[in-house]
Amino acid sequence: MHRHTIAIVGCGVAGQAAALFLHRAGHRVELFERFETPRPIGAGLLIQPTGQVVLERLGLLEAALAYGVKVTRMLGHSRKGRIVLDVSYKYYRPGSFGLGLQRGLLFGLLHDAVVRDGIAISTASEIAEIRTASALRLIDAQGRRHGPFDLVLVADGAESALRAKHGAVVRAPRYPYGALWTVRDERGAASDMLRQVYDGPMRMAGLLPIGRLPSHPPGTRQVAVFWSLRNDRVEAWRAAGLAAWRRELADYWPDYAAYVDGLEDCEAFMRAKYRDVVMRTPVASRILFIGDAAHGTSPQLGQGANLALVDAATLADALAETRDVDAALALYVERRRRHLRFYQWASRRLTPLFQSDRAWLGPLRDFAMGTFGRFPIARNEAAALMAGVSLGPFRRFDLEKLRNGHSA
Ligand SMILES: Cc1cc2nc3c(=O)[nH]c(=O)nc-3n(C[C@H](O)[C@H](O)[C@H](O)COP(=O)(O)OP(=O)(O)OC[C@H]3O[C@@H](n4cnc5c(N)ncnc54)[C@H](O)[C@@H]3O)c2cc1C
Repeated sequence: MHRHTIAIVGCGVAGQAAALFLHRAGHRVELFERFETPRPIGAGLLIQPTGQVVLERLGLLEAALAYGVKVTRMLGHSRKGRIVLDVSYKYYRPGSFGLGLQRGLLFGLLHDAVVRDGIAISTASEIAEIRTASALRLIDAQGRRHGPFDLVLVADGAESALRAKHGAVVRAPRYPYGALWTVRDERGAASDMLRQVYDGPMRMAGLLPIGRLPSHPPGTRQVAVFWSLRNDRVEAWRAAGLAAWRRELADYWPDYAAYVDGLEDCEAFMRAKYRDVVMRTPVASRILFIGDAAHGTSPQLGQGANLALVDAATLADALAETRDVDAALALYVERRRRHLRFYQWASRRLTPLFQSDRAWLGPLRDFAMGTFGRFPIARNEAAALMAGVSLGPFRRFDLEKLRNGHSA
C-alpha cells in the first residue's frame, strides 16, 4: 500500500468522510477548516440508503440509527388537499428508509471520529490559494504555506472560492429561491413521514422528523421545520414579522402553524441558499473537488450530503486500487460521472416545479404527479430517485459495489 500525503480543505460532510477513509487506508491526511471551531450548518437532513452504506463502512451507522428517525414515506399535498407526491421507500426496496437526522448529529459523528482517529486538523485556516508550480502547497489567508502534498481535495462547499480560482467551472448560479429552517419538538403522534404542503411553486412548507442529539434526553423527538422563500423576499418576510406569517399559516396548513406558535421572532429561522454547480471536470492537476464544491444542487431531492459521502468512499476505493494518483483520480471521475450527472440534472429540472415564480407549473405539476405517480412504474422510479440510487429510468446505482468497495 502506497502512502500519500493528502490535504483536505473543508471540515464538512465531504471533507471529514474523505479524511476518515483515507486516514484509515494509511494515507497521511491533514484537514484545513476556516472556522476556529468546525460546526454544522442548517437544521436537518435525510440520509438515503446510499449515504447509509457509507456511514456503515465508516462504523457510524449504528449511532446514527440510535438518534435518527426512519422516514419511510414522503407525502406532499397541494394546499387544497390534493395528493401531489406520495413516495414510499418500500417501492425501492422493502424495509428501506431515509434516515432523518439532526445536522449536528451527522457532523458530530464524523467530527468525533476524526478526532478519535487522531487526524490532523488546522482550524482557523482559510485556504486562499493552491500553488501547483513545483510542489503542491496550500496558502492560507494569513499567508502561511502548508505542504507539500501529493493530492489536494477541495471540499469547501457550494460557495467554494477555490472552485473559481482553480476549477473548470461551467456555471454555478444561485437558485432564486432558498429556504428558512428551524428545529422544534415534535407535536402530536410520532411521524415517520416527510410532509410538505405546496401552493403552486411559490409557497412550500415542510416538516421532516430528525430525532434527537445525544445531549437531548431519551425520548426527545424533533422536527426540521422549513419554509421556501425567494431570496429577495426574506427581508420583507422578516419586516412583516411572525404575527403576520402566523395568520397566513393558520389558513395554509394548521398542523404546521402549530410549530411556529411559541417562537419569539423570525430570528429562530436560519436561512439557506443554494447553487446549481456544474464543473467540466472535478479534477485540476492533482486537485480534486468533491461534495457541494464540485456538484452543489438544490436540496429538493435531499441528496447533497449523500452524494458527498459517496464521493468520499469512491475516492478511497480508487486510491486503494492504484498507487498512481492521476490514475486514481481518473478512476474516480469515471465511477462518479453517471450518478452525479443524473442527480444534478434531476435536481435542476425538478426544482422549478417546487420553487419558482412560474405559477402555471403548479397545476401542471399537481395534475401530472398526482395522476401518473399512482402507476406502479412511476411509483417505483420515484422511490429509487428519492433513495439516491437512480441513474435514470430503470437504471440503478450499484449499492453493493459501494458497500464492498469497487475492487471487491
Ligand atoms: C436547506 C438545505 C437542506 C438540505 N437537505 C439535505 C438532505 O435532506 N439530504 C442531503 O443529503 N443533503 C441535504 N442538503 C445538502 C447538504 O447540506 C450538502 O450537500 C452537504 O452539507 C455538503 O457537504 P460538503 O462537505 O460538500 O460542504 P459543507 O458542508 O458546506 O462544508 C464545507 C466546509 O468547508 C469550509 N470552508 C469553506 N471555505 C473554506 C476555505 N477556503 N478554507 C477552509 N475551509 C473552508 C466550511 O467552513 C465548511 O466547514 C441540504 C442543504 C440545504 C441548504
